[in-house]
Amino acid sequence: MTVKQPQPGELEPIETASRDEIAALQLQRLQWSLRHAYDNVAPFRNKCQAQGVHPDDLKRLEDLAKFPFTTKADLRDHYPFGLFAVPRDKVARLHASSGTTGKPIVVGYTQQDLDHWADLMARSIRAAGGRAGDMVHVAYGYGLFTGGLGAHYGAERLGCTVVPMSGGQTEKQVQLILDFKPDIIMVTPSYSLVIAEEFERLGVAPEQISLSMGMFGAEPWGEGMRAEIEKKLGIDAVDVYGLTEVIGPGVASECIESKDGPVVWEDHFYPEIINPETGAVQPDGEPGELVFTSLTKEAFPVIRYRTRDLTRLLAPTSRSFRRMDRITGRSDDMLIVRGVNVFPTQIEEQIMRDPRLSGNYQIHLRRDSHLDQVEVRCELQREVAAHTTSAQVEQIAHELGHHIKTLIGISCQISVLAPETIPRTLVGKARRVFDERPKLI
Ligand code: ADP
Repeated sequence: MTVKQPQPGELEPIETASRDEIAALQLQRLQWSLRHAYDNVAPFRNKCQAQGVHPDDLKRLEDLAKFPFTTKADLRDHYPFGLFAVPRDKVARLHASSGTTGKPIVVGYTQQDLDHWADLMARSIRAAGGRAGDMVHVAYGYGLFTGGLGAHYGAERLGCTVVPMSGGQTEKQVQLILDFKPDIIMVTPSYSLVIAEEFERLGVAPEQISLSMGMFGAEPWGEGMRAEIEKKLGIDAVDVYGLTEVIGPGVASECIESKDGPVVWEDHFYPEIINPETGAVQPDGEPGELVFTSLTKEAFPVIRYRTRDLTRLLAPTSRSFRRMDRITGRSDDMLIVRGVNVFPTQIEEQIMRDPRLSGNYQIHLRRDSHLDQVEVRCELQREVAAHTTSAQVEQIAHELGHHIKTLIGISCQISVLAPETIPRTLVGKARRVFDERPKLI
């Protein structure tokens, strides 16, 4: 492992600018972004008017606190294109991520947005030690999910050779890594350990693997997992953070020389930490919910988007931008299963489609050999059970598993139980989710 420190002249000037220069740029861009959203996105304008604020009221960065938040519910309510700020024919690409129910949330990018995103992912890969000429194996999923294509275009922009492998097919992943000898891997942390185990199974030692660095994200991971990945693959492992609503991966990314939390690319995304209960802005260093406002996005500007991710903002170290701490949890009930965002309500919706099943269910999460396993327990309606054969029960389970796989994107084990076997909650909220995955260390 040789840590590549950035050489003089290698960084963009803004990465080492003074805080005053950064604040001046942010203010100018924030004024543009608020005005752009206000003029072109009717639901945002209506919210501002209801709250009695106007983009002209933003005289200082702190004035942003007067503006309304945007939530996933806003995206759902205006599905699919209601929050876009440019005509549809100016949108160069669409991506989507899980919504809280059946419909995904949809985001769009102009060609300039795609260019900025590629620039920011290229900057992220450089911060992680990657350079032009390196070979990058992308094992994030391609498609509507932002991971694969986000990583892909960033690596191309930096001048790397890209292997667009996508997720899955572990044996093939390993074969290609052995044959092509890439320098960098981009993959979810949990899946990287499955790949590492396949190397172990083949008797390939970490020092025989060509990879020297990996960029991991899309799901929470801790320092314990970092140590394990670094040891098993013989690499430096850095953290890359992002979310579809804001742009995708590359909202923040860690520097290899300090490995002290992702640096927020504050020239494009303005971060705030709020108290998730009151909405009040918290000072740097205080924990709370991360909120982002896009500063340059044309097609899908987001103003004060509530990520629901819980973390803190930390003082700058290797770059002039502030960093974010590890994500410690979420302020909603979203689960991340093998890198896929899942809301319990999405699973509930699929159970409720089948009139033979009662509405009582449980979701159990475990982690077996590094991968998340999901078991959905549901039960037959009493009046159905008496005349249902075991073959029919199997069929019910098969259909539910199929719906969850095709509509939500995760494989589950389905257990269809006898009527009234799932314990009822007599007081308060039913406990639906039993997350027995190891806690992050
Ligand atoms: P992504 O492609 O980054 O998974 P999604 O929009 O599907 O984009 O999911 C975004 C969510 O994934 C974030 O709000 C956060 O909860 C989680 N996430 C992404 N990157 C990280 C990371 N590095 N550490 C912890 N959680 C992450």
